[in-house]
Amino acid sequence: MSKDSKTIAEKILSEHAGRDLKAGDIAVVDVDLVMAQDGTGPLTITQIKKMGFNKIAKPQSSIFFIDHAAPSPRKELSDSHKLIREFARETGAILSDINNGVCHQILAEKYVCPGNVLIGADSHTCTAGALCAFATGMGSTDIAVGFALAKTWMMVPHSIKVNLFGRIQKGVFAKDIIIYLIGKITAEGATYKALEFCGETLDFLEMEDRFTISNMAVEAGAKTGLFPSDEKTKQYLESQGRVNCFKEIFPDQGAFYEQSIEIDCSKVEPMVSQPHTVDNVITVSKIDKVKIDQVLIGTCTNGRISDLRIAAGILKNKKISKNVRLLIVPASKDVYIQAVKEGIIEDLINSGAAVLNPGCGPCVGVHQGALADGEVCLSTQNRNFKGRMGNPNAFIYLSSPATAAASALTGYITDPREVLK
Ligand code: SF4
Repeated sequence: MSKDSKTIAEKILSEHAGRDLKAGDIAVVDVDLVMAQDGTGPLTITQIKKMGFNKIAKPQSSIFFIDHAAPSPRKELSDSHKLIREFARETGAILSDINNGVCHQILAEKYVCPGNVLIGADSHTCTAGALCAFATGMGSTDIAVGFALAKTWMMVPHSIKVNLFGRIQKGVFAKDIIIYLIGKITAEGATYKALEFCGETLDFLEMEDRFTISNMAVEAGAKTGLFPSDEKTKQYLESQGRVNCFKEIFPDQGAFYEQSIEIDCSKVEPMVSQPHTVDNVITVSKIDKVKIDQVLIGTCTNGRISDLRIAAGILKNKKISKNVRLLIVPASKDVYIQAVKEGIIEDLINSGAAVLNPGCGPCVGVHQGALADGEVCLSTQNRNFKGRMGNPNAFIYLSSPATAAASALTGYITDPREVLK
């Protein structure tokens, strides 16, 4: 261990503070991107005004998303959307309206670059850590200051190294790996730490897999979940027409990690989080027969094109159980268009799915797909807290898109390896 060696978090935050930082230091850092969504945006705007700011520092990198209840299901939310639209117009901030999709997916596709600091009024802002950005969620007041000054303050987190090794089995996906990790370290296991992923398995994790893993870092309490910026990062940015912002970022040799966790990915099986906490995990092979009423495939965790391809691969030319409602929500407009082009949407509709417009969909329970009392949903989202999908008397299980699709066929939680044989 060398005293000058830095973790990825220390590197990015030092660069944005203009001085050398180590874990535990408190610093004011420049912010590259700031965002709020339609749930948190109205309070953020109120706070900006309350603090007496009449403009925002960098409109070209300040983004408001209308994705959580898009389109608006009721008058009060329509008023919130109106407030956001008007504020964006007045200040020149970017508005991502109801046609675009989930904030974290759009940020990944269009805005975030390796080495950025991104702060957002949404807990799953950490998704962009997959692109090696120090990306983290904060409360509306902190975000209001971020919009106003393009700066924030924070304590540099200590880092936990997560070494992923071993070949991932057929039927096992990134979602299973992150559920497994959260089960191992618990929902508090990484509180205010940066999870930093490394190891030979990274070569087999595409960017879309990495987004799923970083997205759920906060479910272990982490401040962010970082991947190094490598060849996969470059390929992804190339595919998005943004390769000019690529830069390679790795931790220094000898950087200090508070803890190291080893995960043999060849031993990870299809996993499920059971109600009502994400760390209440079990392998699908060990779970009792759980009858399901609804399946949701989508969200910022697993609504990307690779997820829809996996689901369609399982469901094509088959019919879902007559006892199940299958909801598909592409994470963004681009994902939706691509899925239409590939015939995926047609295959899913023919299997019995209802396809909703890109956005958060039923994930947060403010509109679309609310569950009835006693009903069970298997979802590819990231949270299964009581009441999360609009009903505290319902039950939410979390899984990969493959497990979700296999389960939609049978009507109970099913190991996708049975279908993929
Ligand atoms: Fe939050 Fe769900 Fe929307 Fe993701 S999809 S931003 S978890 S509400």
